[in-house]
Amino acid sequence: MKASEIRELLKWVTENVISFGGGMPDPSSFPIKDIMEITRDVLLARADKALQYGATGGVAELKEELIKFMGKVGIKVDGPESVIITVGSQEALDIIGRLFINPGDYVITESPTYLAALQAFRIYGPRIIGIPMDEEGLKVDILEETLKKISDDGKVKFVYVIPTGQNPTGITMSRERRKALLEVASRYDVLIIEDDPYGYIYFGDGESPDRLKAMDSEGRVIYLSTFSKIAAPGLRLGWVAASREVIRWFELAKQSIDLHTSTLNQYIAAELLKRGVIERNIPRIKEIYRTKRDLMLQALGEYMPDSVSWTKPSAGMFIWLTAPENIDTGEMLNVAIRKYGVAYVPGKSFYPNEERRNDMRLNFTYPTPQQIFEGIRRLSLAIREYIQ
Ligand code: PMP
Repeated sequence: MKASEIRELLKWVTENVISFGGGMPDPSSFPIKDIMEITRDVLLARADKALQYGATGGVAELKEELIKFMGKVGIKVDGPESVIITVGSQEALDIIGRLFINPGDYVITESPTYLAALQAFRIYGPRIIGIPMDEEGLKVDILEETLKKISDDGKVKFVYVIPTGQNPTGITMSRERRKALLEVASRYDVLIIEDDPYGYIYFGDGESPDRLKAMDSEGRVIYLSTFSKIAAPGLRLGWVAASREVIRWFELAKQSIDLHTSTLNQYIAAELLKRGVIERNIPRIKEIYRTKRDLMLQALGEYMPDSVSWTKPSAGMFIWLTAPENIDTGEMLNVAIRKYGVAYVPGKSFYPNEERRNDMRLNFTYPTPQQIFEGIRRLSLAIREYIQ
């Protein structure tokens, strides 16, 4: 494990610095009143269970509600034994590392990919191979070439993807690519880890493409999602849907980590689903995020020089900005924070292998509209200084 240099730098972020660095939801999206009421009701009606130790797999009522919730987006699971409740999906990523990775095994990810997934997997010593993406998501033809090359050399344990509103790029994988990915995974017999924190708050035009898990006829997809973006991350609640066998292994691993996820929070989440709070909250979150994304896109269009490009996400919380190649965004961060009062996450650490240095991740969900506009203006000044 190693401490992140970025975290060290972000310590300089004070009140006068506008930060696009975090990955936090807009706090106005939290259903605070409902959580207050539900917590009271849960404690009045069933404190004996809600404050007691519980089963490692999770609270049965929550699993039932989640099965219905996933059913609405076409995900069918094999009963409650094929679902486990985790401490956020972050815990699920760590358990995946424990269960599947032996030192030297191959793991394939999108490139760039979610930094904390790389951190979770790396503890178990895999060889991680990143596959480039375009605006339709992971380049499946390159994945296939890679699988062909390495399948003689060693075991490929899984392909990890964030198909909707990817972190850090904001890209959503097209339906055709999803189909192609499933076909290639089937041909080479590898598992797919589908990390889906943002699928339920897709705010692009039309419907979000189907989940890989909903398109999977072979039980090849291990599906991860979370309450962090549809309710509140402080609840620390995530879930995994997979075959019964895989979930049994998850339970075994989880027993020694933390016995089970917070019982009280699980009862609260079950009620959030049962009472329709989540369902009602989702359109509101989509609206907040769509508006903020549009603002950031507008500000980028107004302020950035022509040599800078960026993604236009239809889900997720991030825009991925590519500066001219001579700019090292890691080096620039110091100046951006101290001289211009703006922060972001340099792109370098999101890459499993290649060392691209001229991109950055910008979060648009947490800052206020005023901060978005002013922050992008400041960022454009920093970039202009470095271009010259
Ligand atoms: N996966 C991805 C792609 C994420 O963006 C996040 C949160 N930033 C997580 C997993 C972890 O979320 P949590 O543990 O809050 O469920």
